[in-house]
Amino acid sequence: MADPTQFVYFFGGGQADGSTEMKNSLGGKGANLAEMTRIGVQVPAGFTIPTEVCNYFSDNDGAFPEGLKEQVVAALERVEEVMGARLGSDTNPLLVSCRSGARESMPGMMDTVLNIGLNDHSVQALAEHSGNAQFAWDSYRRFIQMFGDVVLGVRADDDEHEDPFERLLEAKKASAGVKYDSELSAEDLQELVSEFKALVKQRTGQDFPEEPIDQIWAAIGAVFGSWNNDRAFVYRRDYGIPHSWGTACNVQAMVYGNLGDDCATGVGLTRDCSMGAPGFNGDYLINAQGEDVVAGIRTPKRIETSLKDEMPEVYEQLETIGKTLENHYQEVQDIEFTVQKGRVWLLQTRNAKRTGFAAVRIAVDLVNEGLITPEQALEKRRIPADDLNQLLQPVFDPQKKALAETEGRLLTKGINAGPGAASGHICLTAAEAERLHNIDPEKPLILVRRETSPEDLRGMRAAEGILTAFGGASSHAALVSRQMGKTCIVGANELNVDYIAGTVSVGDIVLKTGDPISIDGFTGEVFTGMVDTTPSEIVNVLIKKTVAPEDSEAYQRYAQLMEWVDQFRTLGVRTNADLPDQAVDALAFGAEGIGLCRTEHMFVEHLEEIREMILARDPDTRLAAINRLLPFQQDEFTGLFRVMQGRPVTIRLLDPPLHEFLSERHLQEQPDLAEELAAQLGISVEAVRARTAELHEENPMLGHRGCRLGIVYPEITAMQARAIMQAAVAVQAEGIEVHPEVMVPLVGFQTEIDNQAAIVRETADAVFAETGTTIEYQIGTMIEVPRAALRSDEIAETAEFFSFGTNDLTQTCLGMSRDDYGGFIGYYRENDIVPFDPFQSIDLGGVGRLIELGVAGGRSTRSDLKIGICGEHGGDPASVMFCHHAGLNYVSCSPYRVPIARLAAAQEALASE
Ligand code: ADP
Ligand code: MG
Ligand code: MG
Repeated sequence: MADPTQFVYFFGGGQADGSTEMKNSLGGKGANLAEMTRIGVQVPAGFTIPTEVCNYFSDNDGAFPEGLKEQVVAALERVEEVMGARLGSDTNPLLVSCRSGARESMPGMMDTVLNIGLNDHSVQALAEHSGNAQFAWDSYRRFIQMFGDVVLGVRADDDEHEDPFERLLEAKKASAGVKYDSELSAEDLQELVSEFKALVKQRTGQDFPEEPIDQIWAAIGAVFGSWNNDRAFVYRRDYGIPHSWGTACNVQAMVYGNLGDDCATGVGLTRDCSMGAPGFNGDYLINAQGEDVVAGIRTPKRIETSLKDEMPEVYEQLETIGKTLENHYQEVQDIEFTVQKGRVWLLQTRNAKRTGFAAVRIAVDLVNEGLITPEQALEKRRIPADDLNQLLQPVFDPQKKALAETEGRLLTKGINAGPGAASGHICLTAAEAERLHNIDPEKPLILVRRETSPEDLRGMRAAEGILTAFGGASSHAALVSRQMGKTCIVGANELNVDYIAGTVSVGDIVLKTGDPISIDGFTGEVFTGMVDTTPSEIVNVLIKKTVAPEDSEAYQRYAQLMEWVDQFRTLGVRTNADLPDQAVDALAFGAEGIGLCRTEHMFVEHLEEIREMILARDPDTRLAAINRLLPFQQDEFTGLFRVMQGRPVTIRLLDPPLHEFLSERHLQEQPDLAEELAAQLGISVEAVRARTAELHEENPMLGHRGCRLGIVYPEITAMQARAIMQAAVAVQAEGIEVHPEVMVPLVGFQTEIDNQAAIVRETADAVFAETGTTIEYQIGTMIEVPRAALRSDEIAETAEFFSFGTNDLTQTCLGMSRDDYGGFIGYYRENDIVPFDPFQSIDLGGVGRLIELGVAGGRSTRSDLKIGICGEHGGDPASVMFCHHAGLNYVSCSPYRVPIARLAAAQEALASE
């Protein structure tokens, strides 16, 4: 508050004490009423009592500060002057509303009272002055009802189900034989007023207050008091709004939407906020007041469909006002208005909330209309980076989904892990999904599992969507589906998946294999039966190529936005891709390289060879087995290098523990596997079982994995290095540039990277000597255990690049297994033990500190050390923003997150300019 003794900020007649700059004192509503008055939009005169007075009121047992009374009385006189009406007048009475309004909108949480100033005299005067007795008595009964509820606390008791005023109103309509409030006659309403007053007397023991100024003070007190009602407290906790802010109180002359059929009340948006199409739209009701539109008493009509015909001049005024407001605020506005005798009065405006679809369209349109600059279009508040996701995913037809819900087809809810919408037939195993997909690729399938593992990959690829009963947001199913851009729900704990019986059930509802099911990856909702979807237009253009760019406006806007994004961002964006087709998708989304190619996916496709290698008892057999994998690996790398056309490709050496390829579980699920393997290797079934038992680990993530594999079995590293170098030589020979980066996982000691680097270099030299060619390549490491971050200066002596593996770094830094944290993370979140899921967004205080240490140490040895991040966090906007500040060169994320990471990087670059 500029002047601590100014308790009243007037607006009206084209002048205002306040402005939109004063939101903190005047609240959003008050600040914008002042601003609209200043720019010549028609607003009923009034004044705002600032939030500081609310805080004084709360701190002083409901007392008002010295001097407020006089200022309010003076301001009311100015309102009377501007409106040409007087409080309590016998000829032309002024009525006012008392409206709450905080710094940030808290829709419906606090109170507002309309039609203040009515009593048994002024109601007559209002009837005569307006020539409409029904209107006057309707306003009076509304006033008693609202004031009775908000100020006097006359509302439904614990044992009542219905508001006592509503009950009387319903009874009156029944006895008058009418359906709507607006059909009650002046006489009906007059009787209702007496009944309302009797109710107040009976409930409060006092007469309804007659004096307008007393009514106003009581209403101001009630508005301030509503800041501290229960639901306002709950709302503030949910949305992180401080309790110390307080609400402002706006006292404003009434305008009347209930004066007849040339009057109306409504709410509107200056553009559509679901898909972003330009043009005024919203809801209105003829001959109605204030809350009627939202209250659902009568079904409102749509502005864009019928107002043009019903009230053409009003429609035109609204369009003009909408343009004025958008020009002024440079943002889409959400407005509340009243039409009195054909004239539009604005009662509220604020920046509108919108979907990701609308956000992109509106931002780009506003630039093209010359209202804002590209820099402004990219502001975080206009397009939260995560919301871009919505543009890439197929969506359920909203009407069909609502229908499914009313039909009781909502089965259960899980964690929304992969956004999108998918319907299909239930499949319980990956093999079955693949088999069915091969028979009929058109038939949509939903893979429903307790959880998934690496070997379910092909089945996951064949399915339209994935649903698991266990696992969290970083579980295998979630990770892979995001990388594939598949709709996925994980951790639907109510789900009982019975592989033997071939059923999926929740309580009494039992679905069988083949039954249709639908999953909404935006919300985590699971429905029985099919729900129709609409494909993403952007994906149709970029990936499926079924729509030409010039035929898709949505795509053109997206492309324009992304052009601005690349102009401003400084952080590189790569992708995590294992296969050429994923790399193709990622390139279409703007990836500048591959930050992580996980080679184990290729092993999973060749389980026979890898199992042979695992079971081998002497180095020669092992070498022979592993070398059978060489051509497959080389093929995959060749494909990747070709697709990437000279962009850097980071290939991680084999990482997972060997029991992912052979374990008790495999032997159990496939009863003849042990015998087959025994026969194949010429060893006994017991030997197969014994070796399998040896591979078992209590805690697989800390066991024999990462570089520990390549160190104990150097032939694996040698084979992989050879595959990489031979592929690189071959592709370079085709005239395509190649930049392989060999990445050693799970390094903690410098000796580990030394060991692996030596094998890679030796192999590379051998390949170069054999082929007479040389390839520029780099050897680097993942930083994913705390020791690596702490000793990064030493590690950088050998490593030519770093990539933070934040999935494992989070597990090892927090001592929290991402496969097991599902058991408590929900409780932790709900009880504010952790502010967010550390596997979704980087834990800045711990993991973030390790990253900063790692960067500083690494660059102290090699000032130009290239550093990236390749954990799932690479696609999380908040984490991308952290990476920008930490000085990383790039983030790497799954293909469908690439546009999001690009946008987040640009937003942070602009914000820190
Ligand atoms: P909320 O914050 O719950 O939206 P408001 O204070 O905005 O509460 O009031 C709700 C509605 O009451 C407004 O949208 C408007 O239609 C009506 N209203 C409030 N003040 C007036 C007024 N002075 N004249 C006419 N209608 C009013
Ligand atoms: Mg409002
Ligand atoms: Mg790792």
